[in-house]
Order: sequence, then structure tokens, then C-alpha cells
Amino acid sequence: MLESKGIRLEHISKIYQDPKTGKDFKAVDDANLTIEPGSFVTLLGPSGCGKTTTLRMIAGFESPDEGEIYLGDQPINELTPNKRDTAMVFQSYALFPHYNVFDNVAYGLKLRKMDKDTIRKKVMDILELVELGGMEGRMTNQLSGGQQQRVALARALVVEPSVLLFDEPLSNLDAKLRVSMRTEIRNIQQRVGITAVYVTHDQSEAMALSDQIIIMNKGVVAQIGTPQEIYYRPKDAFVANFIGEANFLQGKLESKEGNRGVMSIYSHQVDVENVEDFARGENCTLVLRPESATIENEGQLPCEVMMSCFMGSYQHYHVKVGDVILQIMDFNPRYKKIFQVGDRAYVKFNACDSHLLKTE
Ligand code: ADP
Ligand code: MG
Repeated sequence: MLESKGIRLEHISKIYQDPKTGKDFKAVDDANLTIEPGSFVTLLGPSGCGKTTTLRMIAGFESPDEGEIYLGDQPINELTPNKRDTAMVFQSYALFPHYNVFDNVAYGLKLRKMDKDTIRKKVMDILELVELGGMEGRMTNQLSGGQQQRVALARALVVEPSVLLFDEPLSNLDAKLRVSMRTEIRNIQQRVGITAVYVTHDQSEAMALSDQIIIMNKGVVAQIGTPQEIYYRPKDAFVANFIGEANFLQGKLESKEGNRGVMSIYSHQVDVENVEDFARGENCTLVLRPESATIENEGQLPCEVMMSCFMGSYQHYHVKVGDVILQIMDFNPRYKKIFQVGDRAYVKFNACDSHLLKTE
């Protein structure tokens, strides 16, 4: 195990000029975040939200216009990338095509002027770790995409950095390989105990890999939390929509006691929980995940079935409640009553599955 370090961003902003309008804009806007040593953290958000810019500032390829970045307790704004104790794995792999696997991985060690025997031992050990033992003599153009990505990972790991940075490293691979490589990256990261910061726009990748997910939206950190916190307790509609599917129902909190309350939605009284941050009489939005509700003969909200599809593991419904269409995934429907288009029924869910948002 190597010594992993945490990272801290304090009030970090990056200003770029919009090439079309010529105006300045903040590609990263007052980002504050703490990454614990040894954790796997994902920067997740749509294209253009500032993920790569944030990662490149941590690596030292870009410098922030405001704020300070710390590696462990050390401020690193003034350090060049090679003095930062971080290593980056790129989407394009960025391997040297005229070098074989061994020389690609050994490159950073040779720069550090290590002796030949030490380099040989370190390279062979790391190739073993990424399951490329025996491939050291191959040229990189004789390797598959997945193998090239392993070489890139080995090259980053071999210099024993305190932090590993990934920018969409799997996006050039086919879907199946992406899934197996992400498991491997997670396993290797845990075995080595290194801090990892991973950029992706793929929510399932973020969920599968992360101790913590940082959701970004238009340069701003929208939410930081474990995958469960982000999924079950999204802070706003953007986060709720970006991670998984979500239904939204507008209403009013009629009464509350502790964390329980009653919401009126289209004049129906609905039991809800997790209402601590809301006041009696406040307008609010109920977030309901499609898999946390079912369609029944009795329930909280009357509905009309607009679509009903058998999907194997679930019955997929679109139902109309008031003037909104809800998407419901009713799992394991084998022995259940299946409702058809045009049927009147009820949406049923447990109060503990409710989550409320401030109405925007
Ligand atoms: P992401 O990685 O989330 O897709 P980026 O961090 O690459 O987003 O980019 C954030 C925003 O900054 C985008 O609007 C992008 O066009 C802009 N941007 C990135 N790099 C530069 C640059 N060197 N000059 C001007 N604008 C840039
Ligand atoms: Mg990017």
C-alpha cells in the first residue's frame, strides 16, 4: 500500500472566454469539496459542466483564477504537474506508439533516473497487477482497447502517485468491456489504497465505482454524497433527473409532526415522510422513483392507465394523475393484477419512499 492523500478545493473558479460571444464565463464556479484519502470519488455531470476543467486544475494542467487547491495539507496551486504527486489516465490512453508495453510503463521511472533493476522489478510487478504479465514485449498497436487502457493505468500507477486522476477513461471501449474494466479499476484502486478522482458523464459508471459522487451542473457543484444519498435524497430536480428516473408531483404540506407529514396533491391527502426542512402550508414537490410505487385497486392517488407494457422483470406503466404523467415500474408482476390502458386505478407507495423538494 502507498501513502494516499486527500484533496481539498477551496472556492475554486476557472474563467474562460466564450469563443462565440467573446465574453468571460465561469467554467468552474466557486467549487468547494473535500476528497478523503483512499476514497474513490466521481465527478459526474452533463457534457460541458466543468468536470475536465476541475480535474485538470487538480493535475496542474490548468490553474484556477480563484481559490486554493490542497493535496493533503499542502497548497499546490504553484506546483507544476510533475511536482504534484498525481498521475492522470486519459480517455485517449496517450500511449507512445513506437514503444513497447514495458517502455511505455517504464517511461516515468526512467525520467526519475531510477536504476535499471529497480525499474524492471517495478514495471513487472505493476503489469502483473493489471493482468498484463507476459505482454511487456508487445507494441501498443498490437493490443486491444482494453489492454491499452490497462497499460495507461499501469503507467500511471508505477510512479506511485498519491492520487490517480481519470478523465472518461472507458468511453472508447464497447459497452461490455466498459462494465468489466470499471470493476477492475475499482478492484485495483482498493487493493492499492490510492485516492482516485474519476470524471464521467455516465451515471451507472459513477454509481458502480464511487464512495462519493460529486454532481456538477453548469460549473457549479450541485451535490456531494454517497450514491445512496444522491439517489434517495437529491437536492434538486436537476440531480433527481440526472441520476435515475424521477416523477414529480406538486402539492402543499398540510400538516407535519417530526419527520412525518400530510401533503395535499390534486386534493388528495397523501402521507409523506422526510419533511424536516419544510414548513406547514409550504408548497413543495414530491419526488417518487418509478420503482418505489405500484399500481393497485387501492392506494394514495387515483390514476388513469395510459400505457401498460410487460418488460419481464417489471410491468411498465404510464399513468395520469391530475395533469401529470407518472412512470411506474411494478417489479415481479407475475402473479399480480395487470392493469390495461384506460383502466382507473391507484398509485400506491410507502410514505418512507417519499422525498420532498422546494418548489422552484
Ligand atoms: P466537461 O468535461 O464537463 O464536459 P469541460 O470542463 O471540458 O466540461 O468544459 C467546461 C466549459 O468550459 C465548456 O463550456 C467548455 O466549452 C469550456 N472550455 C473548456 N476548456 C476551454 C478552453 N481552453 N477555452 C475556452 N473554453 C473552454
Ligand atoms: Mg470532459
